[in-house]
Amino acid sequence: MSPLFEINTVDQQFYEDRLRAFLPDRILDVHTHVWRKTFRRAAPTGRAVTWPLRVAEEQTVENLLTTYERLFPSKSVRALIFSFLESHDDDFAGANAYVSQCAREHDLSALVFASPQWSADRLEQEIIRGGFLGTKVYLTLAAPNIPVADITIYDFLPHHQLEVLDHHGWIVMLHIPRSARLRDPVNLSQMLEIERTYPNIKLIIAHVGRAYCPEDVGNAFETLAKTERIMFDFSANTNAQVFEQLIRTVGPRRILFGSDLPITRMRMRRVCDQGTYVNLVPRGLYGDVSDDPHMREVDGPEAESLSLFLYDQIDAFRKAAERTALTAPDIEDVFYYNAIRMINQVAQRPDGPIG
Ligand SMILES: [Zn+2]
Repeated sequence: MSPLFEINTVDQQFYEDRLRAFLPDRILDVHTHVWRKTFRRAAPTGRAVTWPLRVAEEQTVENLLTTYERLFPSKSVRALIFSFLESHDDDFAGANAYVSQCAREHDLSALVFASPQWSADRLEQEIIRGGFLGTKVYLTLAAPNIPVADITIYDFLPHHQLEVLDHHGWIVMLHIPRSARLRDPVNLSQMLEIERTYPNIKLIIAHVGRAYCPEDVGNAFETLAKTERIMFDFSANTNAQVFEQLIRTVGPRRILFGSDLPITRMRMRRVCDQGTYVNLVPRGLYGDVSDDPHMREVDGPEAESLSLFLYDQIDAFRKAAERTALTAPDIEDVFYYNAIRMINQVAQRPDGPIG
């Protein structure tokens, strides 16, 4: 286990006081990354933030399962796992084979980490051969000539792949692009178009569409009120106000718990400063962060009071659940049953990946 990951008395107190009784006994985490550092061969593309790699340069499946035991004592946690790659020069074959093997050996569910360059046939074969339940796509894999601010969903989740995913009723884990995040009109119109055009896809919008600050919301929830199936995970997001709007808009049956481990092992608290999220971290713990606008170091009692990103994330959801009067069965849906229902639907389809 990385020396960056310690559980101290602040964490134990936080878990006992706010989380243990709130969390159901069984949890299914739909968003977690499992990879070995040797699979990431290429230099960063400059299209994604770099601070997550300060938390962990790899996460083996053993490491993930140990993390669950340490973070959620007395709970049983299962996962939907996928890799963490960034460039076409990374080792896709090795990374996906590793995730497939981890899922088989530990009875977990998994998504293939797909390249937008793959044909429909190639994607279908990769998913079936690896025993995957769908695909995880990433904006850094869009064609290199597109400026990062102009990347749209279809640049890394092309229509020919959506067609085969729809045919099989597979899962798509989608981290949306663009600097306006959830409120971006291109993102919103493409999300609605995917739901309408590909009704069998189980589309999960990661991190509540990266709406980490109130300024990221705009009129997104008014638009999303027109959707019927799109699901949202609230991984790596700590904004109770956004969660509250999400619950009021789509209800507890379309919200899924995800951790985005290993980055949420980070010791920090997130604040918003003029519309941008900032991770407050203990000075020195994550190296020299002076050039990263999303990182700010704190000292003394403020630093000592910091707990873990994942605990803060779940606590924010707990507050939103309280304000919206979610019931205990609603909470069980969000943390377990919604995910189990989705996974069973995929696994039981006759043309699905089982067999
Ligand atoms: Zn992630």
